[in-house]
Amino acid sequence: MEATLEGFASPHLFSGSTLDAYTSSVWHASALLADRVKRVRQPYSGASVTELQDQVDAVDLDRPLGDTGAALHEVARLYLDNAIWFHEPTYVAHLNCPVAIPALSAEVLISAVNSSVDTWDQSATGTLIERRLIDWTAGRIGFGPDADGIFTSGGTQSNLQALLLAREETLAGVPEPRETAIPRLRILATTESHFSVSKSAGILGLAADAVVPVATDGDARMDPAALAAALDAVRADGGIPMAVVATAGTTDLGRIDPVDAVGAICAEHGVWFHVDAAYGCGLLVSTRRRHLLDGIEQADSVTVDFHKSFFQPVSSSAIVVRRGETMRRIAVHADYLNPRTATVPNQVDKSLQTTRRFDALKLWMTLRTMGSEQIGEMFDAVVDRAHEAYRQILADDDFEALTEPSLSTVLFRFRPAGLTPAECDELMPKMRQRLFHGGQAIVAGTTVGGHYWLKFTLLNPNTTNDNIRSVLDLIREIGRDEMNQRDTTAAVMV
Ligand SMILES: *Cc1c(COP(=O)(O)O)cnc(C)c1O
Repeated sequence: MEATLEGFASPHLFSGSTLDAYTSSVWHASALLADRVKRVRQPYSGASVTELQDQVDAVDLDRPLGDTGAALHEVARLYLDNAIWFHEPTYVAHLNCPVAIPALSAEVLISAVNSSVDTWDQSATGTLIERRLIDWTAGRIGFGPDADGIFTSGGTQSNLQALLLAREETLAGVPEPRETAIPRLRILATTESHFSVSKSAGILGLAADAVVPVATDGDARMDPAALAAALDAVRADGGIPMAVVATAGTTDLGRIDPVDAVGAICAEHGVWFHVDAAYGCGLLVSTRRRHLLDGIEQADSVTVDFHKSFFQPVSSSAIVVRRGETMRRIAVHADYLNPRTATVPNQVDKSLQTTRRFDALKLWMTLRTMGSEQIGEMFDAVVDRAHEAYRQILADDDFEALTEPSLSTVLFRFRPAGLTPAECDELMPKMRQRLFHGGQAIVAGTTVGGHYWLKFTLLNPNTTNDNIRSVLDLIREIGRDEMNQRDTTAAVMV
């Protein structure tokens, strides 16, 4: 590369004169991906951490290969050959989805144009598209014309921002100084709520005991009577209720807190009502299950993760608020970026981020290509599949299920006759590890009520009942083998 009066002329920098290099490298990358995906038969290669660590460590980052093609081939070996493939139907572990192809074509545009949707002068139409999608989402929630919101990096950030708005709104309503009020602020949520709620409380400078657990009914849903009592108790104790967080789709059980009843109590008590619908937001476009979110329109803020139940590539999430003016309390103005006197829409006023990807285009392309109904049908399909998986588990003598699914997760375990619950708790994590290292299927695991459960999280509409059957058979095989080994060891010890 030579420095000339015209500047550096790198053949690797995107510009009007490097379009051949650009199109060939993007084509090359997608061809390589297609080649690998064609050969993929299972969600993981099964490689161990040390194997992969050695391969990554062996790369000398100070000796570039000089050619995108060569670098791509290296990455195919390092990364693609050992990727976790969410499109494989026996990947049934976490809240990851196979992604909508229209969104992938949007990714090509987003990353090359490299718009930043923080200010109008870095994004133009990008800003307007993002705003339309926020309005569209607000409409689906049932908010009125005063609603507003912003795309974020994920549910964690959306929850943090919602609670920041709640903090500012609450503080504006109390006469005392911030310093003495902040330690008294309380957030009410069930223990099923996402860990980002307590993480946010810490970031927001609240007291260590700021998150007050609200009792649940027998079904792990927030008990409205217990919420009302907890709000009274917080006040009686000298606390200031700052927010109530209801979850629409808990991460483990997929439970939906009674949003309607909780919203009514929040209105009565004048407390900020946040609905964490990171997982359950797909219900907003469901034709058969939209009613499960009835009452969500009472929320002050809602978290939606399009990268979960809208089949979008990471990242794609938003916080949507019922009264747009509540976002103004967090606006910070910089003379060089978004001065107070600005006459154009600057999204940075409403965001915790500054430079920010134009992720909204992915959802836009998806809606314009497929329409929301198809997304709703896909989400409905995975919920149906979870119910079928539950029935399969019940029909097997040597498996047990914890409870009927609400959304698309199913908690279960291998529990043949003769295995005590304690032995089961010891065996399940081992079995899960072995399954992962086999690579043929991936399931999650969690602890509920002191016991270890395996978990299916179904977010792939291509997962069939037969796929579920084959995963259960694999788990049984591993379980029997573990039990045999144990019996052999026991016999040797005798
Ligand atoms: C996944 C999830 C989150 C966190 O979202 P990220 O996009 O992973 O940051 C928050 N709340 C719930 C209920 C979730 O399921």
